[in-house]
Amino acid sequence: MKKLIALDLDGTLLNRNSEISGENIRAIRDAQNHGMEVVIATGRAHFDVREIFKDTGIRTWVIAANGATIHDPEGKLFFSVPLDKDRAVEILAWLEREGYYYEVISDAAIFTPQNAREILAVEMDRLKSANPELDVEELKESAEKQYGQFGFSFISSYQDLLDPSIPVYNILAFSFDEEKLKKGKEKFKDCRDLTLVSSAKYNFELEHVEASKGKALHRLATELGIPMSETVAVGDSLNDCSMIAAAGTGIAMGNAAEEVKKIADEVTLTNDEHGVAHAIRRLLQEAGAEK
Ligand code: CA
Repeated sequence: MKKLIALDLDGTLLNRNSEISGENIRAIRDAQNHGMEVVIATGRAHFDVREIFKDTGIRTWVIAANGATIHDPEGKLFFSVPLDKDRAVEILAWLEREGYYYEVISDAAIFTPQNAREILAVEMDRLKSANPELDVEELKESAEKQYGQFGFSFISSYQDLLDPSIPVYNILAFSFDEEKLKKGKEKFKDCRDLTLVSSAKYNFELEHVEASKGKALHRLATELGIPMSETVAVGDSLNDCSMIAAAGTGIAMGNAAEEVKKIADEVTLTNDEHGVAHAIRRLLQEAGAEK
């Protein structure tokens, strides 16, 4: 029976330097050569994923923006569920009023306010003066990872996005201020029209309630005629829980959050130990493709 393997990117397929190792690339290629379907399932934008894969020679399905979009291996949009536009505008207006760093994933760009990076720099300085022993490098790395995405387009405010032809797939809010982060999560966590997830320590993300990695995996499995029992999902953070729970086999990374390990069927090695390759090799062995 054909398998569908869903792989998260950050903290899963990517190592701590945000690279895909040769071991992982070879394992994906071997899986595809043995007839397994591979889908990348990430909170990132689909065009950012294409950029990451451009020199690997690998093409896969892509679930992006935490399940709000699905693109086929040729890069064509197969499915999307954007936020209701009025709702998105209302959320962005609130984030802007409250002084959050935010990013908006749309069709061809990640929109972010021109002053957004200053906001994070100020938050970092404040945190540093309040806790002189703080590991500033960790904060800097988190910020650099945000800025390292492909496809940024700077706006003066959310009002630049009012045009109805601009879809909003995902809104990410980022803050080093624990209280601020909590306030945002509290505000949106019980909204029935939204999915709230977190892919990293300092962020929360909002999508349409019908958008999640789990729902997208289900949709793609149906399209490909693969039963959910033959699906595998590998991830490390809370935004992976929906697909790890939905998949026939849910695999947590060795570096995954405890909550993720708890709901997974198996735990593989860490992202710096090519945990994805390790998991795929086991699947190939079970399929009798490798000794
Ligand atoms: Ca992740």
